[in-house]
Amino acid sequence: MARITMKFGGTSVGSPEAIAQVADIVKHTVDERHEVLVVCSAMSGVTNLLTEGALTAAAGNPTRYQAIATHLREKHSNAIRQLLPSDVERISIRDEVDSLIDEFETLCYGIYVLREASHRVMDKVTSLGERMAMPIISAALRHNGVSSTTISASYLIVTDDQFQNAGVLFDDTERRIRRELVPVLAQRIVPVVTGFLGATRDGVITTLGRGGSDYSAAILGAYVDSDEVWIWTDVDGVMTTDPRVAPDAQVLPVLSYGEVAEMAYFGAKVLHPKTVQPLVDRNIPIRVKNTFNPSFDGTLLTHEEHVTPSTVKAVTAIRDVSMITVAGRGMVGVPGIAARTFAAVAKQNANVLMISQSSSEQSICFIVPEEKSASVVESVQDELAHEYGRQDIQRTWADDDVEIVTVVGAGMRATPGVAARVFGALKEASVNVLAIAHGASDYSLSIVVRAADTERAVQSIHRLVVLNGISPNVHAPEPIKNAVS
Ligand code: ADP
Ligand code: ASP
Ligand code: MG
Repeated sequence: MARITMKFGGTSVGSPEAIAQVADIVKHTVDERHEVLVVCSAMSGVTNLLTEGALTAAAGNPTRYQAIATHLREKHSNAIRQLLPSDVERISIRDEVDSLIDEFETLCYGIYVLREASHRVMDKVTSLGERMAMPIISAALRHNGVSSTTISASYLIVTDDQFQNAGVLFDDTERRIRRELVPVLAQRIVPVVTGFLGATRDGVITTLGRGGSDYSAAILGAYVDSDEVWIWTDVDGVMTTDPRVAPDAQVLPVLSYGEVAEMAYFGAKVLHPKTVQPLVDRNIPIRVKNTFNPSFDGTLLTHEEHVTPSTVKAVTAIRDVSMITVAGRGMVGVPGIAARTFAAVAKQNANVLMISQSSSEQSICFIVPEEKSASVVESVQDELAHEYGRQDIQRTWADDDVEIVTVVGAGMRATPGVAARVFGALKEASVNVLAIAHGASDYSLSIVVRAADTERAVQSIHRLVVLNGISPNVHAPEPIKNAVS
């Protein structure tokens, strides 16, 4: 017997057929005598529609959110109708979902009147998607013969009030999860918990950032002492690159926590970048599996590092970033300029994704999210006003037309020739390199390119470096019998 936390993503709960498949997966696993905790996303597309409704209302459009509400009512009632044959269950679940959609309309009306959508109210609006999906999935489980109940994560995951990207207060969260969830699991009831959201100590709803349900599952899985956390999605596992960019992308059977964290951080959408954090210290393995191909092993993520012959296992890209350059002849040998520059960046709450400094010390350049670029430039200029006055620094500017391409794989620094092969692939694709940096870990090398070159760069590196080095005989070990094969 094992305790398994299973997170089902948007596509995995995106239609009545998909939810029925989820119910089958859970039923099989429970029949194998495992304890299961389910963490659910909103049905696919719902979070985007909720966001659009609120933003169009804030822009003065009083009808779009109403049309969205109608669409959401139809989408969810259709699922309820197809999944639940009993009238009693149908009516009670439909009432629950309807009142959440009423709440959406009320919130959007308020936003429309005020012409303002604060981060706080956006969290309240976007959390509704998971809250609507939760009762439907739990009822589908019950209909499939699995004892199940629902618990909103607003009672379990306690966060600070950094709305839209809330930080988790781990001690409070652990206490609540141990108190509320563990006894339910011990009674062999499957709790269905909302992904993506949490609440402050005062009970105000927050969210963990887009794609945050993976992180929710990791937090919940860690504190219920799961043996494994399974992320069910719509692809066969973590792949060598984004399959939408390179259709010949292949599934990686095993990866280390460090490697997958680096991939996620540098743009691989398959996992939220914080997912591995709660699980690493507890050594809880993660599996990424396909809801629509459940017998396939998927990808197993653990501490173990396998260095492959090509070293490079995957290539990712991150968009919507901006390269900031601070340049001046007088920077040479002046101590502290870099420290003050990054202090100024930190003041804007901007995350620095990579840094590269030229050896002549005449410029520092670094990458921040594009939405922060203007405020970062201003903040650096203010901080270095004295150096500007003395002409030690001539210019600070932002270039928004850039993206980062990152290659990931354990053991890169110790392997000669990796960079040469990567740059060879870029040359082959006629891609100009604007800046490079090794990651702080040994797992990555990042290259800044023009936005228009990203896709070609990824495809060329993938074909010439990643796929060239794939070893056909690395297979995932099986710590837990796959209950659905
Ligand atoms: P979910 O709703 O299940 O969380 P997401 O859409 O958030 O699913 O993430 C899965 C998607 O991530 C895949 O459909 C795929 O298009 C995309 N993706 C990007 N990079 C990768 C990668 N390296 N491996 C697998 N999938 C990737
Ligand atoms: N539904 C949320 C989103 O679309 C969270 C998630 O799916 O992980 O961002
Ligand atoms: Mg996701």
